[in-house]
Amino acid sequence: MIRLAVPSIEEDDVEAVREVLMSGHLVQGRRVAEFERLVGDRARSAHAVAVANCTAALHLALLGLGIKSGDRVAVPAFSWPATANVVELCGAEPVFVDIDRATFNIDPSALERVLERTAVKLVMVVHAFGNMANMPRISEMAAQHGVPVLEDAACALGATLGGKPAGAWGVAGCFSFHPRKPITTGEGGMLVTNDASLARTVRVLRNHGLDPESDRQEFVAPGFNLRLTDIQAALGTTQMAKLDRLVDFRRRAAERYDVMLRDTGITVQLPLAEDAHVHQAYVVAVPGGTALRDGVLARLRKSSIEVAIGTHHLPLTGYFKRRYGYDLGDFPATDDIALRTLALPLHEKLTQEDQETVVGALIEAIGSPVCG
Ligand SMILES: *Cc1c(COP(=O)(O)O)cnc(C)c1O
Repeated sequence: MIRLAVPSIEEDDVEAVREVLMSGHLVQGRRVAEFERLVGDRARSAHAVAVANCTAALHLALLGLGIKSGDRVAVPAFSWPATANVVELCGAEPVFVDIDRATFNIDPSALERVLERTAVKLVMVVHAFGNMANMPRISEMAAQHGVPVLEDAACALGATLGGKPAGAWGVAGCFSFHPRKPITTGEGGMLVTNDASLARTVRVLRNHGLDPESDRQEFVAPGFNLRLTDIQAALGTTQMAKLDRLVDFRRRAAERYDVMLRDTGITVQLPLAEDAHVHQAYVVAVPGGTALRDGVLARLRKSSIEVAIGTHHLPLTGYFKRRYGYDLGDFPATDDIALRTLALPLHEKLTQEDQETVVGALIEAIGSPVCG
């Protein structure tokens, strides 16, 4: 079996977790602050707030930015549902924006059209599969309209564009440490920002509404409990030491896939610049349509190659389709790309021979897509 994704967990990770477990301080010890500083420094942000997962980070960011019932938030049409769910959970409406066929990220021209005809309170960008969106153009455009930008950088820890890291471009950036992301804490998330007041609000909301600066127990808001444990933070700290190594490996493996897939009719995801992609996943679009993609997926799985769809065409997922009545044709580039995507195996245990096996099986499956 060639696995799709395998987290890189080593002895030092296990030891760090063991140490916390034996210390008796499983939550609210010093580990969370250590991990926050490492991620904050990496994302060149003054504040970093660890939370239970990236969805929580995004949700608390929206609450902290004052997104509420009746507001509209621009969101790319191609993403994991969490990106749009958090907007709905604030009572606001996601205004979906079509993607760019080369980068699989929000299309700046489509965003511009949305900003011209719709009053949105916020632009959310996603760095799809760790590939940074066109932040220079989007930042400038959003600034012209006086709208802040929030980065869903769930997959993009370690990516940089023009030397500026993912998470440092917007009013805030949110990272995920789910096992399929560049580094993992099992579940985990982090919000980074240079806005001290936003960071404080997120700290209050993650911990029962407790004032983090007060010595007495002052509850200043109705908060959640969305804290990260010290067990997870210790794992995050040892994982951070491996980030560069893991990203280097992924870039080299992705380059090998790129070469193997040249002239095959398979569409690969292009980065805007060399360091802009950390390849959280290696996602391609196969020729033909969804039926062909689903046939190819089934065939590869039958040959013991674990593959998955890339991610979701959000306006066509059950809830959003029903609620807003979206249909095929509303987002032509997302229709074209999203419904043909496949994530190929990519993890540190993957060998060059494995990659050749994957590509060989993929090309064969595309040639004879009917699955028995
Ligand atoms: C993984 C992911 C999330 C959710 O992260 P969790 O830590 O699982 O909550 C949100 N947005 C995108 C784009 C993701 O890929």
